[in-house]
Amino acid sequence: MTQIALSNLGKKFGAFTALAQMNLTIGDGEFVALLGPSGCGKSTTMNMIAGMVAPTEGDIRFDDRSILNVPMSRRGVGFVFQNYAIFTHMSVRDNLSYGLRAQGVSTPERNRRVSAMADLLQLTPMLDRQAAGLSVNILQRLAIGRSAVVEPAIFLLDEPLSNVDAAFRSVMRSELKELQRQFSQTMVYVTHDQLEAMTMADRIAVMDHGKLLQVGTPLEIYNNPQDIFVARFIGSPGMNILEGRIAQSDKGKLVDLAVIGRSAPLILSGRAAIEDLPEKILFGFRPEQVNPDPNGTLALPVNFVERIGARSILHLGADSMGVKAVLDNQITLPNIGDILRFSIDPKKVRLFDPVSGNAVGGAD
Ligand code: ATP
Repeated sequence: MTQIALSNLGKKFGAFTALAQMNLTIGDGEFVALLGPSGCGKSTTMNMIAGMVAPTEGDIRFDDRSILNVPMSRRGVGFVFQNYAIFTHMSVRDNLSYGLRAQGVSTPERNRRVSAMADLLQLTPMLDRQAAGLSVNILQRLAIGRSAVVEPAIFLLDEPLSNVDAAFRSVMRSELKELQRQFSQTMVYVTHDQLEAMTMADRIAVMDHGKLLQVGTPLEIYNNPQDIFVARFIGSPGMNILEGRIAQSDKGKLVDLAVIGRSAPLILSGRAAIEDLPEKILFGFRPEQVNPDPNGTLALPVNFVERIGARSILHLGADSMGVKAVLDNQITLPNIGDILRFSIDPKKVRLFDPVSGNAVGGAD
């Protein structure tokens, strides 16, 4: 069990900056997801922690010790990649016991740990099968087990579920969480899938273009995104962002959203005082916060209804506006072409500066 501290960590490939000024401390036994789109620098960060890539600036410390000069093999790090790395000519059992043998673990202890890991990852019925004949799903599960069974203090996983099918991915999300609960390892998990990050991580580090944008618990990031990129990237669908202007009503300040209407008076306790808000503002609200309301001050036409089981996603407004609402199917849904009149709880509104993209206010 180890704390990882990245300070001013940076990586350049020639003139290209893949990662800049990354400051992040991952607590002992914490599960942190590095989340962001392709090319944002997640794997580069992970590879520097593992020791596969040398930073061009900054430091990495495991507990109190800088590990920049410690070779990969001596960092005590387990690694699982997107593409399973296992010995296909060996049995499942031999794959699981490989690392323990290399560490000289006694046979009874090895057998105990292999059997416990096989149980946890539902590999027991196939322990004596050769890996070569197994499905991609099972092979990836085995790759995770093979790295985890040696109980590394730090466990790094780089998109381990990208190649497995959707149903299996959901099973594996709970198994990985259980794995971490049992072994209390410090886990760093790279993913571009916000659902994976939201469901598994203790904290999420959202990255874009080589920069760390925000770190927080899944709920903090969901409820209080610190900039527009994070607001749109988290959630499925992401936050709706509309251009508006601060206007005065007899009850206080509100946002004039032009054709869509006017918001309810704002209730802000965020970073900016209400009088400091810029006149032009970006108005953010989650699709789940659209509240159908015949007396609502906001209204948009319904373009498309996407049924996703218990709930539906309504595509509202002109294409360029792209507002989405997620509604429970228990209510009578509007039809395509209808006007949806709605309100949004002013406490849930998030405001962003249109120039910097930074959050400038919000409740909580
Ligand atoms: P992905 O999920 O697509 O791997 P990522 O967020 O993990 O995305 P990185 O692999 O860390 O991104 O890459 C960050 C940037 O650095 C990308 O633009 C990538 O092309 C670049 N890069 C990574 N490795 C090298 C390298 N060895 N030489 C040059 N550029 C590199």
